[in-house]
Amino acid sequence: MNKGLLIVLSGPSGVGKGTVCSVLRHKMPELVYSVSATTRSPRLGETDGINYFFKTREQFQELISRGAMLEYAEYVNNYYGTPRDFVEHTINSGKDIILEIEVQGALKVKETFPQGVFIFLMPPSLEVLKQRITGRGTESQEIIDSRMSIAAEEINLIRYYDYAVVNDEIEAACHRIQSIVTAEHCRKERY
Ligand code: 5GP
Repeated sequence: MNKGLLIVLSGPSGVGKGTVCSVLRHKMPELVYSVSATTRSPRLGETDGINYFFKTREQFQELISRGAMLEYAEYVNNYYGTPRDFVEHTINSGKDIILEIEVQGALKVKETFPQGVFIFLMPPSLEVLKQRITGRGTESQEIIDSRMSIAAEEINLIRYYDYAVVNDEIEAACHRIQSIVTAEHCRKERY
């Protein structure tokens, strides 16, 4: 049996990764979603174990020292990381899994899983990105500014990715991602 694909979806905060993933859930119900751990506080409507596993810094550091994290990164003063066991179990059972993570973490995953499929979701422009982060209304000006400067740095690292998908329109972006996954399943190396 072929292993499942490990798909990494990155892109700057506010580019619409969350929305893309929620649309993909309907379009690709066979895709498994990795639930990350984080030390940031839950936003309104977020549920522990569904959106994230919400942890204290001490709990998170304990997970790191046990080697339970496939990757982790510190982003705007909080830890974010991917629990290792769930990812390995999913791909070993032949199912595809998608990780929605920031760039530093994605580069670490690439060291462990160079055969992964690395997709970078691009905003149509930095101006549109700023409007999207501001429009979300959940972040202070200081956080918006740090997210914008991180975004510019992240876009510079696009060269490490296999694919760039512009999120100009949600349905179109999801369709491009679906096509990428289909193509990756057809790679001759898998046969
Ligand atoms: P947010 O606070 O908006 O939910 O997420 C902030 C950033 O952390 C986003 O770019 C998101 O993709 C990233 N992120 C979420 N989970 C993980 C993870 O497990 N590992 C890493 N490295 N980044 C993550």
